[in-house]
Amino acid sequence: MKYIIGNWKMNKNSYEAIDFANQMNSFIDSYVDSSRFSIAIAPPSVYLSSLYDLSPKFQLVSQNIAFKDQGALTGEISILMLKKYIQYVLVGHSERRHFFNEDNSVILKKIMLTLSNNLTPIVCFGEPRDERESGTYLDFINKQLTHVILHVPTQDLSKIILAYEPVWAIGTGHIPALKEIQEVHEYVRSILAQKIGLLSAKKTPILYGGSCSFKNAASIFSTKNVDGLLLGGASLEFKHFKHIIQIAQTL
Ligand code: PEP
Repeated sequence: MKYIIGNWKMNKNSYEAIDFANQMNSFIDSYVDSSRFSIAIAPPSVYLSSLYDLSPKFQLVSQNIAFKDQGALTGEISILMLKKYIQYVLVGHSERRHFFNEDNSVILKKIMLTLSNNLTPIVCFGEPRDERESGTYLDFINKQLTHVILHVPTQDLSKIILAYEPVWAIGTGHIPALKEIQEVHEYVRSILAQKIGLLSAKKTPILYGGSCSFKNAASIFSTKNVDGLLLGGASLEFKHFKHIIQIAQTL
């Protein structure tokens, strides 16, 4: 299975969200091979229930969940309130790490909560620019992932999706060279394989995210060990998102 997942972040009004979803429904119905592609959208949470009511042909993702499932957490939303609508939860996105100070222990709680509710966490990781420039990016990634890999039970490691999102590539129009993407994806696969064996490690999808567009989608998608794309800006306009799905289907 290959994945194309759009993260709208804090964008779109409710009419735009519904309009996009309606267009997606007819496109997927007629043109997408759902046995090969899993297409999903992470809208702002306030739209999840109305998109769900449209019987979407795509899957729904929550951009976030609270680190506990109930209690005194003003402004937060529990996975118990969201689980009816969604299949996936984004966890560890660099914007949450940066603006909301989410550290590895909070991220781990969210991963475990997602798994215990039989949903799939999409765990984002990736190095900031200075780690890339100083050449220490693999160590940095290793530390981010070791925390997850050490604590998530072995049998659950193939139930998560990983998304390599170099922080310096998000929203900047700069992407790593393809061989750099390949290097990280191969490295991550090998870290997983050390823990659960290569056969099981191959079951964990590893997506790439960060400034993907219809211009670079084909080459990134064709890179070894890349199991799909996580799109930010390129998921906001239906025609761009659709174009990327069309490209992926021709490969
Ligand atoms: C993201 O923030 O997950 C992302 C991939 O953003 P963009 O595609 O806009 O770089």
